Amino acid sequence: MEHGTLILRANWVLPMSHDPLPDGEVVVENGQIVAVRPRSDLSGAEVIEFGDAILMPGLINGHCHLEYTALRGRDDHTPFFEWIRALVALKAKCPPEIWLPSALLGAAELIASGVTFVSDNTDSGASAEALARAGLRGRVYQEVFGVEPEPDDAAILRTLGAKLDALRTTLQRYEATEHISLGIAPHAIYTVRDSLMRAVRQYAREQGLPLSIHAAESSEEVALARSGSGSFAEMFAERKINYLPPRVPPIEYLHNAGILAPDVQLVHATRAEPREQEMMARSGVSVAHCPRSNARLLTGVAPVYAMRRLGIPVVLGTDSAVSAGSLDIWDELRFAALAQRAVSYAAHPTWRDWIGMLTMEGAKAFGVDSQIGSLEAGKRADVIAVRTTRLAFSGMPDPYAALALVARSEDIAFTMCEGRVLYRDGQFTALDPVKLRTQLHELLHGIM
Ligand SMILES: [Zn+2]
Repeated sequence: MEHGTLILRANWVLPMSHDPLPDGEVVVENGQIVAVRPRSDLSGAEVIEFGDAILMPGLINGHCHLEYTALRGRDDHTPFFEWIRALVALKAKCPPEIWLPSALLGAAELIASGVTFVSDNTDSGASAEALARAGLRGRVYQEVFGVEPEPDDAAILRTLGAKLDALRTTLQRYEATEHISLGIAPHAIYTVRDSLMRAVRQYAREQGLPLSIHAAESSEEVALARSGSGSFAEMFAERKINYLPPRVPPIEYLHNAGILAPDVQLVHATRAEPREQEMMARSGVSVAHCPRSNARLLTGVAPVYAMRRLGIPVVLGTDSAVSAGSLDIWDELRFAALAQRAVSYAAHPTWRDWIGMLTMEGAKAFGVDSQIGSLEAGKRADVIAVRTTRLAFSGMPDPYAALALVARSEDIAFTMCEGRVLYRDGQFTALDPVKLRTQLHELLHGIM
């Protein structure tokens, strides 16, 4: 498959860089797209005819925690503070051997929903191996935590350096360094003290690594930053941790501390205030929008409409299966699109804009738009086929509306990344989710 010519044909080709092409084909050679054109009668090459389907670029999941996939549905705590406390307790009970199969299972779920690029924040580091083994493209952010006085910042940075080296070694072992890049995720302002946040920012600049930070997610986080009050402040007091509130909301604090820059992804920004949105736009950060997680944890609806009007790049993310329930990027898309219309009373972003966030705009936010995000000659062959045979697609004249309003994981007929077929008609080529589920069942049996 890696060599030779493969022609993919369908009733719709959605290049994203150009108008939708009815009755088109995508020609793939050596992992690269060599042509996107009207259907030809060329033979002599391998041809896959999808018929009633939409060929489009592989999708981008802009924020995830793959390693938590196996923990979904195990708690229904709210509000946000109670939920995250329960998650930390749950994690502490888990044997470390679960993180890799759990991340692999999450990778399978994403492949089956047409995702080919995943941005993942990982504590255990398992997602680097999971993405590499799954044949996916992506970005792996190594998480950093530190609010207790010990270990000190220097010690945490040494540990971080060792973890990043281990991730690099893993990626080299799977020859995946070209497809999977690394970054650092200082988790959030309530888990990373001010001095450490600044030290990680400095270290990331020296290493040329981007950052991902959960910011302005919940009202509890805002209360902590603004006035040193609320659940997080009480937790700090209990643990005898001296927390000095910056007395400004979280994103304003990050801005004032010099953390924000174009290499920063802010996750959620649910509570971003207009003043903070201006700071975000000026500093060039992007936002990962995870609306099902936000709804599930009672944290609100992010001001996507306002942020996009200011030119802030927004990508869609499922967040973890623990908060969102599933890693179905189509469920995320639909929830996002409808929730924005419900709260902003505006028809923007349009259906096309939302599909753009999952493709071109997403690729730009991760700086990989020269390689992926559209179907164009010269780009890498990350291509999916969405079948449009289900009844609900009937009469749909516009592929953008069809995808935004109707498509779901079950419609994915084909997922290809870098010219490699990862999934076709319900069959995985590199992963065995049935085996992974059995393995996880055994590992978790008796623990929870
Ligand atoms: Zn997250």
